[in-house]
Amino acid sequence: MFCGRRTVLAAALGLAAGCARSGPPTSVAPALVPPSPSQSPSPSPSPSLSPSPSLSSSVAAPSREEVIARYAGQRPTRWGTDLPGVVAEVPDGALALTFDACGGPGGDGYDAALIDTLRRHRVPATLFLNARWIDANPGPFGDLAADPLFELGNHGTAHRPLSVTGRSAYGIAGTADAAAAYGEVADNAAKLSALLGRPPRWFRSGTAHYDEVAVRIVGELGERVAGFAVNGDGGATFTAEQVARTVGAAPPGAVVISHFNHPDAGTGRGYAQALPRLLDAGRRFVRLSD
Ligand SMILES: [Zn+2]
Repeated sequence: MFCGRRTVLAAALGLAAGCARSGPPTSVAPALVPPSPSQSPSPSPSPSLSPSPSLSSSVAAPSREEVIARYAGQRPTRWGTDLPGVVAEVPDGALALTFDACGGPGGDGYDAALIDTLRRHRVPATLFLNARWIDANPGPFGDLAADPLFELGNHGTAHRPLSVTGRSAYGIAGTADAAAAYGEVADNAAKLSALLGRPPRWFRSGTAHYDEVAVRIVGELGERVAGFAVNGDGGATFTAEQVARTVGAAPPGAVVISHFNHPDAGTGRGYAQALPRLLDAGRRFVRLSD
């Protein structure tokens, strides 16, 4: 276990740069609480690997109204990227590479070279897709959806930190209340379900920040929350050498977060350096649902 060894880069460099360089979208109610330095992520609760009872898509999900009514009065006390129920580790010493496509202005790119590198080395990965990115990239979406090397996850409808109070991360306003949090998860889940013929099993919010009430709302929708133990590309700000060094040093069992929506970043070239070395060292890669 390495619950206490979460890379410092995650907090220092954040996850917003790769996702929201051009500011938040406009399709969600404004935040109730403005960004504040006092709202930095809370330190070091351990991530949980306990299985979710709601993984099965055969269980009928409660209605939007039921969920909102159940959670509307609950007040969260925690905030951050590594709350209980946020999965940052995988079993048996494997590595779970995850790549986000955040969408929106400045976030709709497609790093085809990075995807080609994963394919060339037959390295599976979990790709988290925002609704706006899907709308802007129908061709790449279809290509990725057809490739069993990749599991596709839910990266939110409007790429918001998932909050029931409008709490912000990196200056991006979170969802304003339980209803908005529900919609942030459910609306893109419905889009993915319609396109893929099956619901997504994993969710990661924009900026990967949550309160604990919002984490429970994700569970109500039958999805698990993907965290991370290693910030592989610093929100798509790292040089290729930084990416290669960081990913190459990922400890056994780590969920690694990076981006595949910034083809000009160092991410793709960094993975092209790191993957052959990791494979030569006998490291094994899994999708989150593996
Ligand atoms: Zn993102």
